[in-house]
Amino acid sequence: MTTSLFKNKKVFKEAYVKRVEEMFGKRFDETTMNEKYFTLATMVREYASNNWIETQGALKKSNQKQTYYFSMEFLMGRLLTNNLTNLGIRNLVEEAFDDLSLDLNEIEDKEADPGLGNGGLGRLAACFLDSIASLGYPGHGNGIRYRYGFFEQRIIDGYQVEVPDQWLQKGFVWDVRKENEAVDIPFFGQVRMLEDNGKIKYVHENAEYVKAVPYDVPIIGYDTKTVNNLILWSAEPARTYPQGINAAEYESNIRQISEFLYPDDSTDEGKILRLKQQYFFVAAGLKRIVNNHKEQYGTMENFHEKVCLHINDTHPALLVPELMRVLIDEEGYDWDTAWSITTKTCAYTNHTILAEALEKWPVRLLQPLLPRVFMITEEINKRFCLDLIDRYGEGHPKVTELAIIGEDLVRMAHLAIVGSFSVNGVAALHTNILKEIEMKDFNELFKGRFNNKTNGITHRRWLLNSNPELSDLLTKLIGDGWIKDTMEFDKLMPYVTDEKVKKEFYDVKQARKTALAERIEREQGIKLDPNSIFDIQVKRMHEYKRQLMNILHIMYLYNRLKDDSEFRQNFHPQSFIFGAKAAGGYDFAKKVIKLINTVADIVNNDEETNSKLKLVFVENYNVSYAELIMPAADLSEQISTATKEASGTGNMKFMMNGALTIGTLDGANVEISEFAGIENEIIFGLNADEVNELNATGDYNPWDIYYKDERIRRVLDQLINGYFSNVQPDEFRDIYDNLLHNGDSYYVLKDFDAYINAQEKANKMYQDQDKWLEKALINIAKSGYFSTDRTIEQYVEDIWHLEKIKF
Ligand SMILES: *Cc1c(COP(=O)(O)O)cnc(C)c1O
Repeated sequence: MTTSLFKNKKVFKEAYVKRVEEMFGKRFDETTMNEKYFTLATMVREYASNNWIETQGALKKSNQKQTYYFSMEFLMGRLLTNNLTNLGIRNLVEEAFDDLSLDLNEIEDKEADPGLGNGGLGRLAACFLDSIASLGYPGHGNGIRYRYGFFEQRIIDGYQVEVPDQWLQKGFVWDVRKENEAVDIPFFGQVRMLEDNGKIKYVHENAEYVKAVPYDVPIIGYDTKTVNNLILWSAEPARTYPQGINAAEYESNIRQISEFLYPDDSTDEGKILRLKQQYFFVAAGLKRIVNNHKEQYGTMENFHEKVCLHINDTHPALLVPELMRVLIDEEGYDWDTAWSITTKTCAYTNHTILAEALEKWPVRLLQPLLPRVFMITEEINKRFCLDLIDRYGEGHPKVTELAIIGEDLVRMAHLAIVGSFSVNGVAALHTNILKEIEMKDFNELFKGRFNNKTNGITHRRWLLNSNPELSDLLTKLIGDGWIKDTMEFDKLMPYVTDEKVKKEFYDVKQARKTALAERIEREQGIKLDPNSIFDIQVKRMHEYKRQLMNILHIMYLYNRLKDDSEFRQNFHPQSFIFGAKAAGGYDFAKKVIKLINTVADIVNNDEETNSKLKLVFVENYNVSYAELIMPAADLSEQISTATKEASGTGNMKFMMNGALTIGTLDGANVEISEFAGIENEIIFGLNADEVNELNATGDYNPWDIYYKDERIRRVLDQLINGYFSNVQPDEFRDIYDNLLHNGDSYYVLKDFDAYINAQEKANKMYQDQDKWLEKALINIAKSGYFSTDRTIEQYVEDIWHLEKIKF
């Protein structure tokens, strides 16, 4: 039995050495680190398979309700460390490796980082899976097994260069191909209406079929038998090729469906392919769930009692018409019964109010690609519009505004809202904006449907595994109960003024800062002083996140450090660290990366100031890098234009590792500053009401600020007056134009003065270490709410209605 292999150090050591040699046919000391990684991971997966089988058996027996979380993205990060910890065998393996003179960290580093997501949304899905399993609930992920994950970023000459992420090439140990559960998914063709015994039936003819093959990844909970599934679908040619077709081209067309993750989470390109991806994983996932359900219960009558389908953002919104199609065309239900089951089964999470991210599919694309699904969508729309007319009266503008199909576009958010029993936002402020502004009418129409579920992060990955020093300190002070119940962080409160504890926390922070500095120096040759303030902004590069404001402030700061020797003397050294990928087609975002690197070249090489100011743009920010970065921060930059960041989760990772937030009252920053106390963060700038007001009145002219504020004028002029001698004179013209000629829509200049003041305050504050450490500890003590364990309990209680798995 594989179980016994991890019984004790001696048994494991012998089994491991033997296995490595058997797998690779050479002596243990001749095998590579990769081979050692591969073997260990394989043994861990096998070890978990006992519980995996048991979980499935328990679910078959108990007839419990299960949730399926449909998401285009799962940004899982590496799995080995997490799985070792969750299985409770990390120490054993570490000690065995010590005996073998192997460094477990080094072996963990060999794992490819599966980047099947863009950023926050995909990472949230991954944190959810960890918490669902760790809490012992039956909930599974359903997504796409992209052959290429989110691109790898290189910085060449200061510019971002995108390199394909061939994560599968190293061999992915964790998933299991389930060939016999493959299903065929139809595209194109026609719908024919038939009469069968007086009943109308629709058949889909001449369709092109794509074979969807599921790969199951075990999701191993912490200290529990629960092992759930992440189901990832791969697109392959179906058994029979259509007649008269170029086989090679046909095959490559089909494989394209699961080839690339869309590198952009805010705009749509390659619309048909994207739409194909969406239907592909929705239809395949649902088919498998329905097959299992019918096998277990013999009927679809009770589907909503046993299954919740969660729609993560609008990408899987086709679940609504697809479930209707299954119930009507395949199961023979009438419309009303099918609609009743569907709307009791589906739940939807909204992630953004950014207009460009709200998906709308042209009818001319959707109709030919998915003829029957489109018919059903039209019928859902027709019936919904009749309800609207009942309520508002014929010809009322709200009827056309709220309709699911309008201006020849299918509005996916409307489809998801109408077809779901629950619609949730991801932070208190975001949900309020949905309910009171963006989706006010829907909220009034569907009383009680809208609700808030503030995002979280799994503290197991983001503290227990990534910050062992802090974990040990916490456990020493408050016991290890926090690992199961993060509200126990609060027990730290009596210690926040304790000098000894402060010193210990200071040492933890210094250790993490040193570790980050070492990687940065090794990879990029820039030396950071661990005694400087580590001021970090890591997240996707986007205008609304305002990395631009951060870099413009650094330009201002550099000017001041050069000019004002008294200021320079009193200034505590500060290291600004950025990490961000820009979408391939997002030129403006790429320009900001170039600007950061151009400024970095100047400031890092200026002997007069570089003991005070350093600047690094880290290459290829991803989950594994984040695990090193989050624990090393003193300051967490969360400076989005208020109203624009729905929640943020990076802010929570930083908080839990004892960084202070310098930020606007946006997204979950609001709740962070409420829990920790606003005096323990550095909050500045326009709030949501003020931004909404400015948007409404249009009463903002960035030129006024340019003329009035000499500090800002100087920085803006430096963008275009040849100040940067190493780039073309027009390199940053677009940035200048955007801020001045195009109205500065994200209020960078409007908030600039407040940001300068906030930064000055932060620098002063840090110099009072006694106060600073107290505030940092309070942030940790109050971060328990932001564990996804809390988030998931709320989903379970209010939306999914699950019970823990009965073993
Ligand atoms: C947490 C995380 C994000 C989300 O960061 P935000 O600051 O909330 O936008 C993005 N990318 C990675 C790799 C992360 O770990």
